[in-house]
Amino acid sequence: MERINVTRSSMPPYEEYCNEIKTIWDTAHLTNMGALHKRLEAEVAEYLKTEHALLFNNGHITLYCILKAMELQGEIITTPFTFTSTVNAIVQAGCIPVFCDVKPDYTIDETKIEKLITEKTSAILGVHVYGNVCAVDEIQRVAEKYHLKVIYDAAHAFGVEYLRRGIGTFGDASMFSFHATKVFHTIEGGCATYQDASLGDALELQRNHGICGETLKCVGMNGKMNEFQAAMGLCNLRHLKEELSARSAAYERYSQCLANVKGIRLPPVNKNITTENYSYYPILVDTEQYGESRDKLAERLNLHNVFPRKYFFPLASENETFEKGLAEQTPYAKMYSRNILCLPLYAHIDLKDIDYICNIIAKK
Ligand SMILES: *Cc1c(COP(=O)(O)O)cnc(C)c1O
Repeated sequence: MERINVTRSSMPPYEEYCNEIKTIWDTAHLTNMGALHKRLEAEVAEYLKTEHALLFNNGHITLYCILKAMELQGEIITTPFTFTSTVNAIVQAGCIPVFCDVKPDYTIDETKIEKLITEKTSAILGVHVYGNVCAVDEIQRVAEKYHLKVIYDAAHAFGVEYLRRGIGTFGDASMFSFHATKVFHTIEGGCATYQDASLGDALELQRNHGICGETLKCVGMNGKMNEFQAAMGLCNLRHLKEELSARSAAYERYSQCLANVKGIRLPPVNKNITTENYSYYPILVDTEQYGESRDKLAERLNLHNVFPRKYFFPLASENETFEKGLAEQTPYAKMYSRNILCLPLYAHIDLKDIDYICNIIAKK
């Protein structure tokens, strides 16, 4: 039996990609905001229902450039229950991450943010983890009260809509990752969405070494997406609708098959999320009720050639270069990191494979 991994990258039809990159041989324009880049930037903005979107070479640099473009300093309140990239970007931008605990939907607990604010706090950085949406309205209220910027790591949330609004239109800016493993990808890539056009100017400088004509406006980065990446994005975007409906079917199958397994909590549901993207299928294992730990279940699945992932273990706050004991300050995040397993989910995963996985979980 073939290995079933947690994800499998979407591949557009080979001919379609070849057709898209043909023009690159005509123009020899390989990078630096070429024709394909321009087309994809416009299409992504439209898909995300946002006025402003800028493409980057990956999600991590996108987030770093957002923090630099905002000239943030001091402390940024964030969540440890995320991919390490979120926190790395904060540190690399010269700021200090302050870790806030999370809620049962795994997003930052908005009721605990205010207590963490000091005179050094400059921003709140929430993560729409697994495509679950942060408490955007309450976070905005707290931010306005203390004059803080709001940034979202929306790496998991491409195409998600909250009360019919594009997820990238909340806060001051959002980062999306177009990494090969994400719902929509450009092999490697990312995008920033933002509300204020002047932030866009600063982001464009960050993306291109700080260069503006013949002046060097700031110390910038190289964040440019190349034409081959853009071509992959144009192809994948064309197939996204059908991929999402396949993902939705797979997601529903898991929910049906696992509904009655004692000790397994299914992904949370939020009725305000009017469009979902079915990016991950995280189950929470209650060791006592289930009769087996998350780690043991993972090992058992591995023996059956199924490879789920422990997103996010360890916590981003457990970086060995940070002070010890940060994980204990966010007990829910710590507990989730020890008990969550993300099951294989990708477009066109065989529903029979899902039944096979669920039978192993249900110990049938
Ligand atoms: C994937 C991911 C990133 C980083 O994106 P890259 O494009 O891989 O650099 C950041 N945050 C989260 C939550 C992610 O899942």
